[in-house]
Amino acid sequence: MRNLIALFACSFVMLSANASEPPAAKAASDAKKTAEAAAKLAAELSKPAKAIEKPAADKADKAEKAEKGAAAHAPLIEKPSIDKSLAEKPPKAVPSAATADRVAAAVSASEDEAQVDLSVKIAERLAEMRAKQAARAAAAAKARKAAEARRKKEAAIAAAPKISNHWDYDGEFGPDNWGKINPAWAQCGSGKRQSPIDIRDGMKVNLDEIDFDYRPASFSEIDNGHTVQVNVGAGNVMHVGGERYELQQFHFHRPSEEKVNGKGTEMVIHLVHRGPRGKLAVVAVLLERGKANEAIQLVWNNIPLEKGQLGTPDADLDPLELLPNRREYYTYMGSLTEPPCTENVLWIVLKQPMTASPAQMALFSRLYPLNARPLQDSGGRMVKESN
Ligand SMILES: [Zn+2]
Repeated sequence: MRNLIALFACSFVMLSANASEPPAAKAASDAKKTAEAAAKLAAELSKPAKAIEKPAADKADKAEKAEKGAAAHAPLIEKPSIDKSLAEKPPKAVPSAATADRVAAAVSASEDEAQVDLSVKIAERLAEMRAKQAARAAAAAKARKAAEARRKKEAAIAAAPKISNHWDYDGEFGPDNWGKINPAWAQCGSGKRQSPIDIRDGMKVNLDEIDFDYRPASFSEIDNGHTVQVNVGAGNVMHVGGERYELQQFHFHRPSEEKVNGKGTEMVIHLVHRGPRGKLAVVAVLLERGKANEAIQLVWNNIPLEKGQLGTPDADLDPLELLPNRREYYTYMGSLTEPPCTENVLWIVLKQPMTASPAQMALFSRLYPLNARPLQDSGGRMVKESN
């Protein structure tokens, strides 16, 4: 029994020591120590097991003897007055040596039982402690793994450019940062042919006349969070430079993005066309205060109540009403003036401004007081203008 207690104490000390070690050292020594402990326990448990076998056999033997003795003496107790000869031999007459044997056997049996019980309890306790230790080690390993994964993820996020589809006209998501917000918008920051530019020193030449083949068409419109955009039905076409461009949509900026000799206007309309091989051509119509514009009023009348909601008014819009009578223009190669700032866009800025009423101007300014990209470096780009 002492052996078992010593084993229990030893194992407990070992397990406690393991538990107090630093996680890394603990993990390294866990397997070895657990194996040693298991070997010791097996060795120790196998010894008492042998010892137990014998006493168990003795016990069975002795118990049998004790039973026989009891059976022999039973009639003495039950019928003392009937069997006279036996009555003369009271229980006291049982040899004292046999009693001592029985007592010794009983004591020995109970001690054996206690030893077996204790060894079982110790084994159970050790198993329980090992299970707890293994669970603690597993939990610690899991936590370390999770922390490492978290650290790696954070490092990756910090190293990678922040990708977003949100942009704005000021603050963190403003024009200075468009190129950094999304890799697909890199040209906004690094492009060499960006728009808008301050149009000046144009080369006066005989430019092609633009043939606007516009007509009333159905339309849909949306407040897309950056401007009010009108999508125009098919069939509105512009011919310039021998190529055909179809009007896709038009939208508004306040103030005008383009400047001519440093001077802008209160608003501008951009008419976006798609040409051969997806090439884009944008016609800019500058807007000044003056007479109300019917097409603009039709657009304002049908602005959807909710941002991002597409409205499909039951009416036709004539884009010709957005164009001035005179069609002289400036032209240069530039880009879209909002992300993704795609280059190779043909810009046509009509020289004659159109007008919108103060009320029409005021209405848009309530939605978008400022939605214009600042001027970009022209980088010595060629600007041509009509004679
Ligand atoms: Zn625009």
